[in-house]
Amino acid sequence: MKIIRTKAELQSAINHNDKIGFVPTMGALHAGHLSLVKLARENSDFVVASVFVNPTQFAPNEDFDSYPRDEKGDAAMLESAGADILFSPTAEVLYHDGFDSDIKAGSAAQGLEATFRPTHFDGVVNVVARLFDAVKPDIAVFGEKDYQQLQVLTEMVKTYNMPVEIIGAPILRDEHGLALSSRNAYLSADELKIARKLNVIVRKCAQDKNINSAKETILDAGFKKMDYIEERWGRILVAAWLGKTRLIDNISVN
Ligand code: AMP
Repeated sequence: MKIIRTKAELQSAINHNDKIGFVPTMGALHAGHLSLVKLARENSDFVVASVFVNPTQFAPNEDFDSYPRDEKGDAAMLESAGADILFSPTAEVLYHDGFDSDIKAGSAAQGLEATFRPTHFDGVVNVVARLFDAVKPDIAVFGEKDYQQLQVLTEMVKTYNMPVEIIGAPILRDEHGLALSSRNAYLSADELKIARKLNVIVRKCAQDKNINSAKETILDAGFKKMDYIEERWGRILVAAWLGKTRLIDNISVN
């Protein structure tokens, strides 16, 4: 597997007759990311995965600087999952090399995450549009873990007529049902025990639809603060804080 850092190198490494699958990530990869690569592999001929910790989707008080970075580890995992190229651009390449994009997130970006991270989705659509321009994929795979993001990007592709199909991938969880996340690495052993209760509570909420009771149960379980727990798109979506770590999850109500 090749590691590529510029758009020109990337385009010359791609065979344009192939169906190109693309998996954008921020690195610190885990099995959840690799399940996206496998899904891309099944739906395309040639898979590009990217690692880019995008500064514009983090607010100044968020964890951009401390976000875990491990290119060697990421490259080894991507290779084992069947990726053909790791595209790992600098911010300079993505933001100052030709393509100019000033697109805005649409109506799916109202509420939920956006209430607590007001600049986040504009940062996401902007970087994904730039990555799509660099990779020119036929399909792109995103996880249902970031369910609102998946809706925002599906809307972006429609609104801006981008020639790429967005495919959603199911959430990969550990043996306790905790959604895998790069941010789980921040959790202490005690916090991890509490984190593993979140999916159980949300799953119950998806059955009984008692949002208020779920809110209380989440706080009683040891979460410090709830950002939201709401039903939308046939899912219960949640964001809650455990110490300094913000966890999100969502479960289908069907
Ligand atoms: P990130 O590196 O956190 O930006 O995530 C990159 C992609 O992987 C996004 O499309 C996420 O939704 C997806 N992803 C992250 N965690 C999981 C998971 N546990 N299961 C499935 N997809 C995931």
